[in-house]
Amino acid sequence: MQKLGKVSAEKVLRHKTYGTPRKALAIKDVARKGTPREAATAFLKGIAPQLKLPADLSNLKYDKAVQSPLGTHVLFQQYHDKKPITGAWVKVDLDPQNRAYHFTNNTMPVHMLEKSAEKAAKRAWTQADAKKKALATVKATQSRIRGQVTSELVNFPVGKTVQPAWKFLIPVSAPPHDWRIYISARSGSVLHKEDMIKTATGKGMVFDPNPVVTLNNTKLRDSKPVPDAAYEQVQLRGIAASGVLDGPYISTSETKNRVKSTNHAFLFKRNQAGFKEVMAYFHIDRMQRYIQSLGFKNVNHRPIPVNIAGQADDNSFYSPVNKSLSFGTGGVDDAEDAEIILHEYGHSIQDAQVPGFGASKEAGAMGEGFGDYLAGSFFNDAKPAHLQNCVGSWDATAYSKDDPPCLRRLDSKKRYPKDIDGEVHDDGEIWSACLWQIRQAMGRKAADKLILSHHFLLQKDTSFQDAAEALIQADQQLNGGANGAAVRDIFVRRGILAASKRKSGL
Ligand SMILES: [Zn+2]
Repeated sequence: MQKLGKVSAEKVLRHKTYGTPRKALAIKDVARKGTPREAATAFLKGIAPQLKLPADLSNLKYDKAVQSPLGTHVLFQQYHDKKPITGAWVKVDLDPQNRAYHFTNNTMPVHMLEKSAEKAAKRAWTQADAKKKALATVKATQSRIRGQVTSELVNFPVGKTVQPAWKFLIPVSAPPHDWRIYISARSGSVLHKEDMIKTATGKGMVFDPNPVVTLNNTKLRDSKPVPDAAYEQVQLRGIAASGVLDGPYISTSETKNRVKSTNHAFLFKRNQAGFKEVMAYFHIDRMQRYIQSLGFKNVNHRPIPVNIAGQADDNSFYSPVNKSLSFGTGGVDDAEDAEIILHEYGHSIQDAQVPGFGASKEAGAMGEGFGDYLAGSFFNDAKPAHLQNCVGSWDATAYSKDDPPCLRRLDSKKRYPKDIDGEVHDDGEIWSACLWQIRQAMGRKAADKLILSHHFLLQKDTSFQDAAEALIQADQQLNGGANGAAVRDIFVRRGILAASKRKSGL
């Protein structure tokens, strides 16, 4: 047993910097009348000399009393110069008879605070100055700020003194952080900065991209069981520690009855609702990270909201108004086929690069063609030969009589303009076929990079011809024009660009 003022405790641990008791276990205390707050106050007065607090506890402010099966936990925060001291709390744990049996303490000895007072001459940094510094430190530009930025003047412990400091809470998006940052009101230096959003890596079960491809079996049907071998266990990166599927690049927040797993294991099968949430999370997160790896640091770099069961028909969409994705559950649920997920994500990518993209018939067709390209390009190299050039083969088992069943193909023979029929998905096959030939000429990554790049040169109501020229220009900027002739040739043969008469000039 160790003495602690008028009481004793089995163990007393001391604060490294202050030397005062930081924690005491198995305290022998007397039962007390009155409220828990009164009992905790009386207990603290009894050990105030040991804690080096004023005898009347005048620099402590009662905060709250929390009830639990252990009794009552009473919290006080320490103040100095009318401002709270960051992290300076004392908590007294009382049993049901108001006996203190345990406490924790991070308050500063009063003599240290007196020294701090002498030093705290004047406050050089105003709230406005400090805010500017805080926002710049965490790169919180106006467009990234997610909610209200709050501020408070506090005392921040630095060694054996405190410094007046501005505390800011700054919620930002893309990626999401809740910053807590302290700027010295004396020097303007950053005293402390931390992100209060904690993330974790979880595990999930997915189709990658779908069971038809994985099992190389076009006879699978929505109404029949899908063999276990079609599933793959994957890592889910950056998910919220709270256990819902919120991450830096996708949130299933629009989904009703979202799944939650506090141990971050999301191992569902397709008959469980959570499966589609995991599909959307994994495939969008991975695609966004791939796009970043190609050098695009700010294309749709935000948690896109997703509803994995938005409507009962066999249709999915990206909403340019809500900037969110909604998947249909008719036929094979769309979010069960990663190629449908990536197709829809393609629309959000274009809208991020060219706001309002798709404001003409041909731009609309390019939107469909790009989405098919994006999905097809990502998965193609892992597909069995007869499923290559084919997008959405699992989704298509519900409505296609072809073998293999395809939502759409990437190797269309259609020509421009004679095969244009005015329906954006049909006409999109003309565009995706050109992009597909570019991929065959350049290879996957170089083509993906070129194609994503050229969107930056487009207007929202662009034409096939504009976009073909933009691809050639983008290749000039990226590759010194190494693929210009091959790309031009693809569009000439398709009927989109006119054949150049002579080789001279442009
Ligand atoms: Zn589409």
